[in-house]
Amino acid sequence: MITIKNVTKTYAAKQGAVKAVDNVNIDINDGEIFGVIGYSGAGKSTLIRMLNGLEIPTDGSIKVAGREISHIKGANLRKARQEISMIFQHFNLLWSRTVIDNIAFPLEIAGVPKKKRMQRVKELISLVGLDGRENAYPSQLSGGQKQRVGIARALANNPKVLLCDEATSALDPQTTDSILELLVDINKRLGLTIVLITHEMHVIRKICHRVAVMEGGNIVETGPVLQVFKNP
Ligand code: ADP
Ligand code: ADP
Repeated sequence: MITIKNVTKTYAAKQGAVKAVDNVNIDINDGEIFGVIGYSGAGKSTLIRMLNGLEIPTDGSIKVAGREISHIKGANLRKARQEISMIFQHFNLLWSRTVIDNIAFPLEIAGVPKKKRMQRVKELISLVGLDGRENAYPSQLSGGQKQRVGIARALANNPKVLLCDEATSALDPQTTDSILELLVDINKRLGLTIVLITHEMHVIRKICHRVAVMEGGNIVETGPVLQVFKNP
């Protein structure tokens, strides 16, 4: 589903160039839950942001569902982002819009007619377990509920890939587990490929099939979770 080949990303910064991602190679299978773990500054965020064109690689190739993603622009990029959607640590919701309107937003952008849009929103609300909260504003929701809105919004246009950027890092342990369970459920039910980055071992152990360990822009180890994190 995703092929990352010889990908490097260098940022120009005042104090000199920063190589955030350094010649990384990863293959992620269709339907897999793939995790990237590492300390702050390892390059995880830069790497995941390149998968939907939020950052452009300095070098190398990224193919998602057979399509080169790293240099597309404009309408093609918007189309690609419908197929490769993302959830965030701080949810990135629209604060002046209700749950319904947040989830409907990407459908509006995609030009889905109102009646169809509302039907889809209803399905999504029930998929993520937000029944009864349709007309609430984000400020009236718990952290876990906010992330459920983020997930519903990300799924609105039936993506092939869901990218999770520290999606549970702002949540308490119990809420983290309920969101991770929802992600597993979605992975199983929809066959969605999930790529997540995290600094928490617990997240990887709980839901990932395979993991890559990132350090200083490099992948230092990769494999099935049970193999990489063997219990002593
Ligand atoms: P967090 O650790 O809270 O996730 P980060 O500090 O990693 O946040 O990054 C927040 C934003 O700032 C990101 O968009 C990232 O690309 C950008 N960023 C991170 N480090 C730098 C830097 N040294 N110079 C400029 N922008 C940066
Ligand atoms: P992580 O997500 O693992 O914390 P990042 O990808 O955010 O790592 O950052 C990797 C490195 O790149 C860090 O040294 C960070 O400061 C730097 N960096 C990230 N974004 C930018 C940016 N926009 N400009 C300059 N440096 C950046």
